Amino acid sequence: MAPSGPADSRETIAGRVIASHGRHVLVETSAGSRHACTLFGRRLEAVCGDEVKWMPADRDGHGVVTELLPRRTALARTNARGRSETMVANLSQLVVVSAGLPRPDFFVIDRFLAAAESGGIACLIVLNKSDLAESREALGELATYAAVGYPTLQCCALSGAGIPALRSALRNASSVLVGQSGVGKSSLANCLLPGLNAETAELSRATVEGRHVTSVATLHRLPDGGTIVDSPGVRDFAPALERLTQPAALFREFREPAARCRFSDCKHLREPDCGVQAAVAAGVISARRYESYRRLARLQSRFAEPGARRR
Ligand code: GDP
Ligand code: ZN
Repeated sequence: MAPSGPADSRETIAGRVIASHGRHVLVETSAGSRHACTLFGRRLEAVCGDEVKWMPADRDGHGVVTELLPRRTALARTNARGRSETMVANLSQLVVVSAGLPRPDFFVIDRFLAAAESGGIACLIVLNKSDLAESREALGELATYAAVGYPTLQCCALSGAGIPALRSALRNASSVLVGQSGVGKSSLANCLLPGLNAETAELSRATVEGRHVTSVATLHRLPDGGTIVDSPGVRDFAPALERLTQPAALFREFREPAARCRFSDCKHLREPDCGVQAAVAAGVISARRYESYRRLARLQSRFAEPGARRR
């Protein structure tokens, strides 16, 4: 038989990327075998969670990823150069972790929610450290999110309170834990997946062939079904702004009052006869959520104007 190159699709095998570091990925087949692969060609991009086609490249089980299958969802961040960069693919749920301490920055939380809305990813809002009085003070804001329709729950990674509810919320979903540094994401991940650190180290080693790197994103199977993607870079990322082209559409509670705006292209900022501003004045929409919207709209317009970029 003639030797086949990577462009030949006859012998490709389906798999899922369970760890990624730049152009190095670890692919797992449905039978459970794992193969360190590189991406074929400059333009091919695959990240943790991606479904791919790959083919063996040598007898040691190494391979080459030749094709990326369509993504159901993609979570992107703005990287250091200001570009949008996909971090995780095929997530079904963003778990936004908060706590009473460090003091919650609700703008960060709203930005995560907006990113998830724009990417078609569901959100769960978790208030961790329920043992702290400061967390009880944040319950009011949690209720605001619940009223808007986001599922919320409280837990304590230290005592284990609320962890069974968190487990069942993660069952059969493909999730990632995000949130400010110090809210307890690693502690929660360790509650959910005992042995997580050892497994992460193992997947990292396999992906980059024994080299030590800290930025490998890894996908872990939960005991009750479902997966969690873990990565230092994913944990407190800034969601990509250029994708948030219609910021108002990303605030669920704006949709119904926006139908009463005089202008169909109302931005709900200074326009007269604005249903959203009226709902804020009437206390139907939280003034804090509206302020998050204004900040996001301002950031987005600064990003979108070509003139603004030159400045
Ligand atoms: P991460 O930066 O979000 O990953 O947060 P960590 O998991 O590293 O936790 C930050 C700090 O909060 C650590 O000192 C944890 O021990 C502590 N912590 C985590 N969960 C809880 C909790 O439920 N209650 C309390 N009181 N402290 C917690
Ligand atoms: Zn309006």
